[in-house]
Parts: sequence; C-alpha cells; structure tokens
Amino acid sequence: MANCLNHPDREAVIHCAACGKPVCSGCVVQASYCSDICAERGKAAAARACGVIDERRRTRKSALPKRIALVIILLAIAGTLYWYYSNNKKQIDRKARSIVNSVDRKNRDAIRSNQYRAPDSKFKRDRENLVR
Ligand SMILES: [Zn+2]
Ligand SMILES: [Zn+2]
Repeated sequence: MANCLNHPDREAVIHCAACGKPVCSGCVVQASYCSDICAERGKAAAARACGVIDERRRTRKSALPKRIALVIILLAIAGTLYWYYSNNKKQIDRKARSIVNSVDRKNRDAIRSNQYRAPDSKFKRDRENLVR
C-alpha cells in the first residue's frame, strides 16, 4: 500500500472508494473515502446503482403480470374454440368433410381433365412427332 497523499510519512490504510487515492487512517472519511466530497460522490453513485437495480426489479415485476395475462388470453381463446367445436362438432365435421370432398373432387376433375386433354397438348404432339 502506498503512503497517504496528505501525509507522505504515514502509510495509507485504504484507497478512496470514489477516486482511488491512498489515504492514512487519520484522513479516512466515512470508512472508505479520502474526503467529504468523495464521500458524497461515492454515496450518490451507490444510490444511483441501487436506483438502477430497483428500476430493473420493477420492470421485471411489471412484465410478469403481462405475460400471465397473455397466457390467460391464449387459454381463453383455445377454450372458446374448443367449446365452440364441441358444441358444433357435427356441423364442423360435416363442413370440414365437405371442404375435403370438394378439394378431392376438384383434384380428381383436374387429373381427369389433364389426362383427357393430354393427348391433345401441343407439347405431347411435338414429342410424339420427334419420337416418330
Ligand atoms: Zn477520493
Ligand atoms: Zn493522511
């Protein structure tokens, strides 16, 4: 440890917590500072740090209810959909089946019409001409 900045003949016992100056036991202010100015500065910085931590804790706390609310809303939506489905199961199933059937029919029609039209397509005629 270096010697006290104010008393070069005395050994310093601490480095000021605010400015880092080495000071002897006779110069120490409030256990860890070299002067009242540094003590004030150090305490202000500590208070700011505490304030920042408090702020973070507050925002984290306020974010939690929002997340819970979101989960509740999603559950409510899912529950409503399930309730709606279980109450209209037959109608919905019939509707779904009719959609599937109509899609199937369209697909079959499309395949049939493609097969039907295929021999007439210019591409296929050209290819057959090339093969011959
Ligand atoms: Zn200091
Ligand atoms: Zn001193």
